[in-house]
Amino acid sequence: MRVYADNAATTRTSRKALDAMLPYFTDVFGNPSSLHTYGQEAKTVLEDARERIANIIGAKPKEIYFTSGGSEADNQAIVTAAINGANKSKKHIISSKFEHHAVLHTLQKLEKQGFEVTLLDVYEDGYVRPEDLEKAIREDTALVTIMFANNEIGTVQPIKKLAEICKEKKVLFHTDAVQAVGHLEINVADLGVDMLSLSAHKFHGPNGIGVLYARNGIMLRNLIEGGAQERGKRAGTENIPAIVGMAVALEEAVSKLDDTKRIAGLRDKLISELTKIPHSKLNGGNGGNGERLPGIANFCFEGIEGESLLLLLDDDGIAASSGSACTSGSLDPSHVLLALGLPHEVAHGSLRISLSDENTEEEVDHIIKCVPKVVEYLRNMSPVWDELQKGEKQYVIQ
Ligand SMILES: *Cc1c(COP(=O)(O)O)cnc(C)c1O
Repeated sequence: MRVYADNAATTRTSRKALDAMLPYFTDVFGNPSSLHTYGQEAKTVLEDARERIANIIGAKPKEIYFTSGGSEADNQAIVTAAINGANKSKKHIISSKFEHHAVLHTLQKLEKQGFEVTLLDVYEDGYVRPEDLEKAIREDTALVTIMFANNEIGTVQPIKKLAEICKEKKVLFHTDAVQAVGHLEINVADLGVDMLSLSAHKFHGPNGIGVLYARNGIMLRNLIEGGAQERGKRAGTENIPAIVGMAVALEEAVSKLDDTKRIAGLRDKLISELTKIPHSKLNGGNGGNGERLPGIANFCFEGIEGESLLLLLDDDGIAASSGSACTSGSLDPSHVLLALGLPHEVAHGSLRISLSDENTEEEVDHIIKCVPKVVEYLRNMSPVWDELQKGEKQYVIQ
């Protein structure tokens, strides 16, 4: 049995989205900027897709800017707020410790250019506290950017409350909603956010296409100079097939939102079964009152390496992910798990399982059968586990 359980990394493009894309490679292939009929046909398709996406997230079509994905949208939102803020002598930005690297690395770059960045704590349960945000906002705060849902542990942040605080203090608010759009109901007007990023390949659309929503009135800044596409805010000939695929995939995802109850049920089965493994824990969201994404669950198993776990699970046909990212050859534990306060050696033994509507109960049962077996096998070979067993070392996870 083969089980794809790494949907937070990317999802399969849906058949419906792919079929909708195909005519725009060969039949309607014009450049939307061209004045002839080929071009104008493509332009009509482009604006239709923009309107469909706008309708789903509660935006106006002119507030939708197509980008190459979530990373670019995050970069553009932050750079926009930084440039506009600096013009008013506001050079302070607030974010959180467990954002995606598209946000954190952009902020690091701005720090080198003289911006000051405050990263809010996410505590052991993986939630930003609104009262912390309230305290962190200053006269010179140009932007608050907090992710909607975390891609490693699945905790959903109190975005509406955070946006309210920002509105009250007249500070721009951006949210990286890449893991949330298509998985939760999202309405930008209702949420009161100023900017929001989304990406098609996280909801069964194609890779390399996304959206930056920017509320009417926000003076967007270009990352890419060139033609006047996207009302002069994002140069480059539009990727019409991908944009159409994204619109169709989003409509499909939203039409299936009821299915998230079933996915959440499978996630909860995973959580209750895998935390039966001795000295294991669920990472984040374990406070009990927090909201979680339907598909993501992240575990730590003491005494083993996440990478070995992944490779052996792959032998059992299971594609999952470890919290730790292999950055430039060195194995750093995940910054998300470290932000939860997990010690390095425990954060190394992590496993993220991320489900989509394509996963079945049989597949989840296969995961539940294989993980305990593989954990036991690895622990039997682990010198760390040996020390823990002999009492030469203290367990971190009881
Ligand atoms: C995947 C992801 C991104 C990056 O999106 P791309 O389209 O791959 O550039 C950004 N933020 C979060 C939370 C993500 O999960």
